[in-house]
Amino acid sequence: MGARSGAQFLQGLRSTKRQLWLEGERVDDVTTHPALAGGAQTLAGVFDRLHAFPEECLTPDPETGEPLNVGHMIPRSVDDLKRRNRGLQRIAEATVGLMGRTPDYMNVKFASFAGRWKDWLGADGRNEGGAHNLVTFQKRLARQDISLTHTIIHPTIDKSTDSQILGNRVPVHKIAESRAGIVVRGARILATLAPFADEIAVYPAHPLPAGAEAYALAFSIPVDTPGLLFMCRDSAATPGAAVFDRPLSTRFDEQDAFVIFDDVEIPRERLFIDGRIDLYNSVGTTGLRDNMTNQTTIRALTKLEFAYGLATRMAEAIGDASPVTQEMLGELLDYVEVARSAVLLSAEHGRDVGDGVWFPDGRPLAPMRSLLATWFPRVNEIIMLVGSHNLLATPSRRQLDDALLRPLIDEFLHGARGVDAEERAGLFRLAWDFVGSSLAGRNVLYERFYLTSAARNRIGHHLRNVDRSRAYALVDGILAAGRKAGGFSKAPSERG
Ligand SMILES: Cc1cc2nc3c(=O)[nH]c(=O)nc-3n(C[C@H](O)[C@H](O)[C@H](O)COP(=O)(O)OP(=O)(O)OC[C@H]3O[C@@H](n4cnc5c(N)ncnc54)[C@H](O)[C@@H]3O)c2cc1C
Repeated sequence: MGARSGAQFLQGLRSTKRQLWLEGERVDDVTTHPALAGGAQTLAGVFDRLHAFPEECLTPDPETGEPLNVGHMIPRSVDDLKRRNRGLQRIAEATVGLMGRTPDYMNVKFASFAGRWKDWLGADGRNEGGAHNLVTFQKRLARQDISLTHTIIHPTIDKSTDSQILGNRVPVHKIAESRAGIVVRGARILATLAPFADEIAVYPAHPLPAGAEAYALAFSIPVDTPGLLFMCRDSAATPGAAVFDRPLSTRFDEQDAFVIFDDVEIPRERLFIDGRIDLYNSVGTTGLRDNMTNQTTIRALTKLEFAYGLATRMAEAIGDASPVTQEMLGELLDYVEVARSAVLLSAEHGRDVGDGVWFPDGRPLAPMRSLLATWFPRVNEIIMLVGSHNLLATPSRRQLDDALLRPLIDEFLHGARGVDAEERAGLFRLAWDFVGSSLAGRNVLYERFYLTSAARNRIGHHLRNVDRSRAYALVDGILAAGRKAGGFSKAPSERG
């Protein structure tokens, strides 16, 4: 089939009878539920957008030639990496980077897995079934253009004991073999996009200790598999609000759900890892991190560009040319350009990882994982500081349409230099929806945690950086010069 249209995507959602709860009710049709319809329509627009920009967003299936979402591409050159980046940018533009989990996010991850399956699941020849299942699944994901959610984190119950895993009945784990596969029980957190997904993937994140074979699982199953339950967080979609009043919330709530596996049977052909802790714990060596951070940095760059444009337009609308505001706008632009440089460099320095498969260079991307998590709260702060009370002096659509109020609003609530009242209200409402609404609160939490915390990313970045030879050489050079100049009593090797 290849890349689907928005209408096909919506039809797929309608025909999938998932067990999904939202605010106390089970939702039968996610495409018409007031709290979900806006998100469904936006995502349908993303599917259609691929066909509107085929040169950037579609790529031919290497075997069948049918057009696929560019996120499924397994790059084979620097040009491929650059082309994929252009496509991912086009997709991010559809939601100005506010939806983190448009399906290209998972498409890129599984293309990354499939590109390295021989070095990972197939490495020792003892998981041939799992490796075959993964490669087959990635092709199906691409050719049927499946919308995929995922969940990789164990729920928090008691931070003093959670990490002990063994004997912990909460994280999803295997409880039995069945005729057709295995049965799993437990929970995972958090499946963003759950209402708008056709399938859910479970795969490794934090490493498991020895003896935790039951937890060493990777698979993908349809979201309507019996026993699979999704509990959505409260909606941030403001159903019934005018788009003018809530331009982001009404369209860009991608939802997040807690996932319960209440004795779910995973068919054998859907299993990628079943009990192999070594494979589970080596997911970090597959290049996954570099590919996913490539996609996420492009998405974040788009959001930063939007934030810069928004803050600048706000300042202009109220004639704010003060040095303090100019400095903050410059700070936003700094973030934009550093993120842009990371994306450009990672493609330019892309590398052959074997079998003619090319991955982006992870070095410029690695710092983005913690930097973006700390920049986005600051981005919100800057928009609040630029906007100040003006963020709340914003007539609604109905107030603007009121015959009595409108002349007064035009007289008392216009902006500087010819910016009329409606333009000003629209701009500052957009800003409030970006930094102050329920969606805004969720989004800043997302930026802080969706790639795990900045702290965990910094620690991991340092520990993975095993080649410190140049950094050490620079230090040793100065120390040697100090010794030569008589600054040390003994050489380090001579000290006890
Ligand atoms: C909106 C949202 C959407 C999400 N969507 C998904 C999804 O679709 N799929 C999915 O699988 N997961 C998803 N997640 C979950 C996400 O993967 C986890 O929240 C993330 O991994 C962080 O998990 P954690 O609590 O273990 O964080 P941690 O990294 O443990 O951080 C928790 C706290 O501990 C601190 N900390 C951590 N390590 C250290 C340390 N060594 N020293 C000092 N302090 C430390 C951090 O600063 C932070 O304050 C989502 C999360 C959010 C918020």
